[in-house]
Amino acid sequence: MSIGFLMALLAGPIFCGWVCPLGTFQEWLGKLGSKIFKRKYNQFIPASWDKPLRYLRYLVAAWVIFMTARSLTLVFANVGPYFALFNFWSSEVAIGGLVVLAITILSSLFIERPLCKYACPCGAIQGLLNPIRAAKLRRNPETCIDCKMCDRACPMNIPVSQLIVVKDHQCISCMECTSEAACPVPDTLSFSIGDKR
Ligand code: SF4
Ligand code: SF4
Repeated sequence: MSIGFLMALLAGPIFCGWVCPLGTFQEWLGKLGSKIFKRKYNQFIPASWDKPLRYLRYLVAAWVIFMTARSLTLVFANVGPYFALFNFWSSEVAIGGLVVLAITILSSLFIERPLCKYACPCGAIQGLLNPIRAAKLRRNPETCIDCKMCDRACPMNIPVSQLIVVKDHQCISCMECTSEAACPVPDTLSFSIGDKR
């Protein structure tokens, strides 16, 4: 946990973008969803719903912290989809965990990384560090051609093309937007330490 926190302070929620098996699992389902729905994939939730829903994960985090402190056990453990994914056959998994896992699987076919966006308490806590993390993602407006391909590449629907420095609490440091396939102009999007802009 403390390693994840330190990594988040340094470079944002890289655990979410690069390590979390549940994140990878949602991505696999997302690939299937994007084959089915093509460009409509990950665009189903209207902005007026999506924006407030993104704060739901902080309520989940507050609930987990409160209940864990009260009971001195990690209450999230047996109702979380993480545990359910790797133990779904076992009687130790609470029905709540299976329900959340089923909702995650189904919604991943329509929305990219729905659990990360709306419900994951670990991502919520790490995302709070995004405005102050050491390494930041920057867009150079002088070379940017405003093609918006980075916006389409971002699994978290962050409008990268409208930002100079990405400090959004939902960024998972996945680097999808910086890939050559996403941004056609080399060095326009870069990840670097310091607050140059
Ligand atoms: S695509 Fe870029 S802006 Fe979007 S989550 Fe990944 S690193 Fe952050
Ligand atoms: S993909 Fe690159 S060039 Fe296109 S809008 Fe994004 S930063 Fe600008």
